[in-house]
Amino acid sequence: RRPSSAGVSTAALLLTAASGGGIVAYADSARAEEAPEPPPRKKKVVVLGTGWAGTSFLKNLDSSRYEVKVISPRNYFAFTPLLPSVTCGTVEARSVVEPIRRMFEKKGKDVAYYEAECFKIDPTKKAVHCRSAVGTNLDGNGDFMLDYDYLVVALGATVNTFNTPGVMEHCHFLKEVEDAQKIRKSVIDCFERASIPNISEEEKRKILHFVIIGGGPTGVEFAAELHDFLVEDLVKLYPAIAQFVKITIIQSGEHILNTFDQRIAVFAESKFQRDGIELSTGFRVIKVSDDSITVKCKSSGVETLVPYGMAIWSAGIGTRPVITDFMNQVGQGKRRALATNEWLRVPECDSVYAIGDCSSISQRKIMEDISTIFKVADKDNSGTLTLKEINDVLEDICIRYPQVELYMKSMHMVDIADLIKGGVGDSNKESMVVNIEEFKKALCHVDSQVKTVPATAQVAAQQGYYLADCFNKKDHCVEHPEGPLRLTGSGEGHHNFRPFRYKHLGQFAPLGGEQAAAELPGDWVSMGHSTQWLWYSVYASKQVSWRTRVLVVSDWTRRFIF
Ligand code: FAD
Repeated sequence: RRPSSAGVSTAALLLTAASGGGIVAYADSARAEEAPEPPPRKKKVVVLGTGWAGTSFLKNLDSSRYEVKVISPRNYFAFTPLLPSVTCGTVEARSVVEPIRRMFEKKGKDVAYYEAECFKIDPTKKAVHCRSAVGTNLDGNGDFMLDYDYLVVALGATVNTFNTPGVMEHCHFLKEVEDAQKIRKSVIDCFERASIPNISEEEKRKILHFVIIGGGPTGVEFAAELHDFLVEDLVKLYPAIAQFVKITIIQSGEHILNTFDQRIAVFAESKFQRDGIELSTGFRVIKVSDDSITVKCKSSGVETLVPYGMAIWSAGIGTRPVITDFMNQVGQGKRRALATNEWLRVPECDSVYAIGDCSSISQRKIMEDISTIFKVADKDNSGTLTLKEINDVLEDICIRYPQVELYMKSMHMVDIADLIKGGVGDSNKESMVVNIEEFKKALCHVDSQVKTVPATAQVAAQQGYYLADCFNKKDHCVEHPEGPLRLTGSGEGHHNFRPFRYKHLGQFAPLGGEQAAAELPGDWVSMGHSTQWLWYSVYASKQVSWRTRVLVVSDWTRRFIF
């Protein structure tokens, strides 16, 4: 396309004159005019972690909109709910992992992955400091720094030993695939050790005593897998020592599976008693040595020594050092997990989001946000609102905070008036003036109604999906700043997206012997053999790729046949 003379800019004419008769300069300027605008720089998104939360975010993010970089020392995704099965070989380790690069390639994602560990987050410089997980570079230094526009922290959690002496040194953990493989080897080693001649019966009993500390879902599932493995396989291979095998679960609470419906806990306990799995409930582990565990009875305070051959610690989750350091920097020092608001953003930092086990939605933040909503509504700064305005504010709170929605819905204008200290007045009059501070004080027991979500794969995956969805719509929201919510404005009160809402889809507890228990939405509980089939189908369908799905199902089939 030739530009018309009318299109020649003053700059081009000046340039033409300066170059002394410039057909060349003219052509150059025309090209300059025609040269397409360089595309705007893509915003940099750095994602820390390739677990449930990180991969769910990455799978759903429209990576063409951002420059995406991923840091994790693990170049694969691990399907953690099947780790207990890996400990006993029911499922092979390779069947529960999917290489992270293959996941991105299959989804056509333009994502850069670095196998490294983040050891510091610097929110002021908007940068993360990382260390290569595969050794140093030629300069003898494996450290590098990445800057970001948005940071997504999905670092998961670590084990929590509650500083119990000896746990780190003598117990196994079940967090990673390598842990599961180590456990599998140690179980066999115990049987081989107990088979060596000249070992006393007492020693055999000790070596073949498998102790699981923690009666939550992971501990219970591991106990069930181990029981099946011992009864169905090892006892046949080692008949001479079969009578010495014992499994014990030590649980500090009164019941195992105490986050499940009580009917499931009762069912699991009676099944384990029938199977000969000993349940030591109401005991706290206070010390672990190389051959015994010291437990303290919570009611009587009496301490007892429990000799053991192998111990697995499955009693809670703790904070990774990099998260602790970051929380200290942003003034969240005393928490177990990084507090976020309902939009999964760390409120103290611009552009830092946290999802999965390393984070938790803060109730305090919710109450602070509610205060902001009141502030926005009080346009004339009078410290008062009419009853009608209060009602509007409550509706907005319900939209933003699903957790308080039900509670709020049950409140009527009359209740609101009753809540206000001092005067009830004529509650039917919408124009009645209400003091905001008094009202907030009356409302503060909403705090106890707001529940934090649990640290599970289900939550992590839903948070990753939600956050990716928000990121995909960010541009649209910039173009349409009014947002889908009614209450917009500048500053803290402004949100373009609905808050994260966790949808509980139920939970399973496999109990061994081809039996499982399930708690499904709507207070529906199912237990027994049929539930195990439901478990098989749900976990087969939840696999992240067809490769792992086929491998897992063929592992299960092999187990049935052989
Ligand atoms: P993770 O999945 O732990 O991922 C954290 C990621 O961060 C990893 O990729 C890790 O390599 C990476 N990382 C760690 N440190 C760094 C660092 N310094 N720098 C960069 N990257 C780092 N939940 C359920 O809902 N149902 C179940 O049946 C179930 N069963 C479970 C069974 C077992 C044995 C276990 C251990 C957990 C189970 N869970 C289950 C819980 C579930 O696995 C976790 O809630 C889930 O993994 C949390 O996801 P996440 O992404 O936050 O963390």
